[in-house]
Amino acid sequence: MPKRIALIAHDEKKDDLIQFARDYQSTLSRFDLIATGTTGKLINERTELEVTRMQSGPLGGDQQIGAEVAHDRLDGIIFLRDPLTAQPHEPDVSALLRVCDVHDIPISTNLATAIMVVTYLEADFD
Ligand code: PGA
Repeated sequence: MPKRIALIAHDEKKDDLIQFARDYQSTLSRFDLIATGTTGKLINERTELEVTRMQSGPLGGDQQIGAEVAHDRLDGIIFLRDPLTAQPHEPDVSALLRVCDVHDIPISTNLATAIMVVTYLEADFD
């Protein structure tokens, strides 16, 4: 069964995530991908990847992804956060980071560690 990764990007980071998804498309295509609503829509439209969309982040998408972690149905998360803009759903963001720590699930919050997480998870395939 393919591993499952969630992709999330705050608005100011969406272009970075799309570029990341393009750069690592062949790697990411080996995973089952889910994403928050708007992030997922953009990935589906602008890359060859297919992601299953949750609700938009501010409408509960981060919490849905947190629930996947709690159910042990997720192997990693790429979450490009915008550290310079206040988010209305900041408590959800904190809760997602926390639940990943509780379940020891790798979550990257910037591009440098995004590459590490994807490379790490991919290595287990071989
Ligand atoms: P979005 O949500 O992909 O629906 O924009 C991301 C977020 O803000 O958590």
